[in-house]
Amino acid sequence: MKAKKSTNKIKITTENKCSFCTGSICCTYVTHHLDAPKSKSDFQQLLWQVSHENISIYKDDDGWTLLISGNCQHLQVNGDCGIYETRPEICREHTNDYCEYDAPSEDGFDLYFRNYEELLAYCRKRYKKWDEQFK
Ligand code: SF4
Ligand code: SF4
Repeated sequence: MKAKKSTNKIKITTENKCSFCTGSICCTYVTHHLDAPKSKSDFQQLLWQVSHENISIYKDDDGWTLLISGNCQHLQVNGDCGIYETRPEICREHTNDYCEYDAPSEDGFDLYFRNYEELLAYCRKRYKKWDEQFK
């Protein structure tokens, strides 16, 4: 990633795209694969996790995923990577062919829970007697 530029009249290519990506979006979160929830107890676990700051949960073609928002400590103010030469493998493998710069990741989500309330609403819809477990 290079210092950011204006996109006025400049053709965006895979070579220069990262230099236009304000905030270097792919360096502002981590994900963790989750086993697909199958029971009320599983969803209770997810409700606990999504209740925390900077945590959301989504499901897409690859299954259920925990999304933790937060800048990488190596992300520089100008968008550069502070450890570019020795950056982790996952960073090296991330392609900008069609990335978060081109479309928000949410566009590919089948389900997206940004907070406790959204996941609770889903639980109540999925389990008609969801609230009875607390009586
Ligand atoms: S989100 Fe895409 S364009 Fe932005 S820094 Fe990452 S790879 Fe480059
Ligand atoms: S190590 Fe570098 S490339 Fe990887 S997430 Fe952090 S800033 Fe981005």
